[in-house]
Amino acid sequence: MKNIVLFGPPGAGKGTQAEFLKEKYQLVHISTGDVFRYNIKNNTDLGALAKSYMDKGHLVPDEVTINMLNAEVEKNPKANGFIFDGFPRTEAQAIALATLMETKNSQINAMVALEVDDEVLVGRLLERGKVSGRADDANEAVIRERIAEYYRKTDVLKEFYQKQDKYYGVDGVGSIEEITERLSNVIDKL
Ligand code: ADP
Repeated sequence: MKNIVLFGPPGAGKGTQAEFLKEKYQLVHISTGDVFRYNIKNNTDLGALAKSYMDKGHLVPDEVTINMLNAEVEKNPKANGFIFDGFPRTEAQAIALATLMETKNSQINAMVALEVDDEVLVGRLLERGKVSGRADDANEAVIRERIAEYYRKTDVLKEFYQKQDKYYGVDGVGSIEEITERLSNVIDKL
């Protein structure tokens, strides 16, 4: 089983790359942002709760997010491995993920991080906002708050995985194909 955390700030390209990597390596792709948006669209209680945080650019509370992620993993008992996109985003989530993988007699093999400068991120997200219909991409103040939230709570995870020798940084600027190749070079060696 290969389990990969695809990491990086908002707008780094995680979702785009996960689409290619899941096919290439036959992994189940779990995007916490996508699951939250699905719940918002279907007017569930989870969706209403998540929306109240997402609209402000804040993270959804750990307990809610961890329970949801556990449920998504349990839905795929036959998975060959997972690509986690948008999870973990806090140290508590990373610890919960390690515990969950242990119950499967497995582990996270690598955190592969897409590295992109902040101003490039803001530009990409504003562009995406013109077509994505995502409320959190439509407003520059919310975009900047998401990036600030990333530095407050999420960036520390680099160190968390570095300490376990599982952190791999990849340049996230270039064509989609170039970046897929850079990521594949890391994953092939795992
Ligand atoms: P992006 O990477 O572009 O910010 P996502 O689709 O991954 O977009 O996430 C959108 C929003 O969903 C986040 O800003 C946050 O509010 C919420 N969210 C997603 N994943 C998590 C998580 N692991 N923990 C808490 N909140 C999350």
